[in-house]
Amino acid sequence: MTTNFKQLAVSGVQSLQPYQPGKPIDELAREFGLNEEDIIKLASNENPLGPSPKVLAAIQEALPELTRYPDGAGFELKQAISNKFGLQKEQITLGNGSSDILDFICRAFVNPGENIVTSQHAFAIYGIIATIVGAHCIKVPAINYAHDLDAMAAAINDKTRVVFVTNPNNPTGTWINKNDLINFLDKIPANVLVLLDEAYFEYVQNADYPDGLSLLPAYPNLVVARTFSKAYGLAAMRVGYGASSVEVADLLNRVRPPFNVNSLALVAATASLSDDGYVQRSIAENSKGMQQLEAAFNELNIEYIPSVANFIAFKIPSPLKAAEVFQQLLAKGVIVRPIAGYEMPDYLRVSIGTAQENQGFIEALTQVLA
Ligand SMILES: *Cc1c(COP(=O)(O)O)cnc(C)c1O
Repeated sequence: MTTNFKQLAVSGVQSLQPYQPGKPIDELAREFGLNEEDIIKLASNENPLGPSPKVLAAIQEALPELTRYPDGAGFELKQAISNKFGLQKEQITLGNGSSDILDFICRAFVNPGENIVTSQHAFAIYGIIATIVGAHCIKVPAINYAHDLDAMAAAINDKTRVVFVTNPNNPTGTWINKNDLINFLDKIPANVLVLLDEAYFEYVQNADYPDGLSLLPAYPNLVVARTFSKAYGLAAMRVGYGASSVEVADLLNRVRPPFNVNSLALVAATASLSDDGYVQRSIAENSKGMQQLEAAFNELNIEYIPSVANFIAFKIPSPLKAAEVFQQLLAKGVIVRPIAGYEMPDYLRVSIGTAQENQGFIEALTQVLA
């Protein structure tokens, strides 16, 4: 008898659909026989500026220590985060990317048979992690692609442990203002956690966009997740953090693997926090790129969802199919992101690149639509 390993897997894993990341550049080069240098990847909301020179210097300096285990407590990075954002070190949980924090909150707080609540069109990882721990993911219908916070609060039942709120949301680029967020938090029972995912926090320029960290003192059930993968330009290093009450952080840290953030990531993230100029340049470049893409979409008569982040979802005019346009863009060396898995089968998502990358994308799209 051969063993049926699928039957041995825990039930959540048996039904799991793995996360589909953006297509890597070298994979496209292999498949289409293209030169890597000619490929424009605008599929994973990465920072197009390349890493900060300060970060590269810090990594260089740390290389001779590679035989040592990392500082499992992440003392220096936590110190830098707490200095910069006015938190206590004990409020912080470091993650191998902020995806780790999303994982920890489910593993620490959600039992099999319980549930999490999130929005339609929200980040796919939430549902995947809930499924792994044997929980249900209640996806509340969105309004105009944005979270319906009233309906999300109303969807909470006695089995709900965590509500995931993404501000701004990926892949729609929609956002929640401060009043709406506070009204929502006021409605959430004290024994239900709220994970506020602020992966794109730095990019948002609107005056009434809330800073989740400032709400922590008033809401002990709030966990804010931030990442170094986007505006800080460190996606490859895999580092992010959760900020919460000390009590919740203690529980999150219990499920955290001891050396989940590696030494180079620790020094890179620490150095990036002292390079405000880099983040400012990233934000400025992003605003310009956003304008460039919006102008092109207007010119091409393409509908898009106004976004405050570093990406934009745009609608493929019928009778063309988004999946085909995606493939034809690939053949031209341009990688964007299909979001059919986010219940947006007619849309593609493009990350904001450098002016030159944006231009390359616009030209390729114009040709494909012609
Ligand atoms: C990119 C992203 C993250 C962070 O990813 P990490 O690289 O794991 O830090 C978290 N949430 C959303 C919505 C994202 O788009």
